[in-house]
Amino acid sequence: MAGNGVSGNRSCDGCTLCCKLFHVPVLQKQAGTWCRHCSPGTGCAIHGERPDHCREFFCQWIKNDTLPDYWKPDRSRIILTQFPDNGFLYAQVDPARADAWRQAKLLADLKRWARLFLKGRKHVIVFVESNATLILPDQIVPLGLMRPGEGFRLKPVFRDGRRSFEVERAGAVSTSLSIPQPQLIGG
Ligand code: SF4
Ligand code: SF4
Repeated sequence: MAGNGVSGNRSCDGCTLCCKLFHVPVLQKQAGTWCRHCSPGTGCAIHGERPDHCREFFCQWIKNDTLPDYWKPDRSRIILTQFPDNGFLYAQVDPARADAWRQAKLLADLKRWARLFLKGRKHVIVFVESNATLILPDQIVPLGLMRPGEGFRLKPVFRDGRRSFEVERAGAVSTSLSIPQPQLIGG
């Protein structure tokens, strides 16, 4: 977080958004509020001694230098991560800019990735705090509040020769479709 800056070509450089959006248990820092050690837009006041949780976190923009600059979290107001347990792509949105993901350019990318992910039974989910929205190639499906262990099932339906999906919320479902607590996603 805040200045980890890896991936050769990329550095956090002025972005500190993960120090706001994510839960840091060892600091009792809640998701969605600035860390007390963060100077927003500048960096971490305890960089050398920051917790392991912070050292180990890298967002997708830092890790994947094929992502366009407009996805840099301080510009997009969205942090992309891929959860290792299920491979889902999460787009965690700054609640102060809750509609940021609806910008045409960003939403087009999310839908394009949703199409690719769907082939592997993986999904793209937008979170504003714990409120989830499932992005499908041709649908946007509000899922509402998603708590740990909750999930959903997709049922393909065919109308007028076109496939779409009906989404059913579920309690305990198979691991591959369950949604872990979004605050715990890491790099
Ligand atoms: S969100 Fe990404 S770019 Fe921004 S400070 Fe965190 S790791 Fe760096
Ligand atoms: S300790 Fe530093 S790196 Fe970790 S959340 Fe706080 S400001 Fe960010």
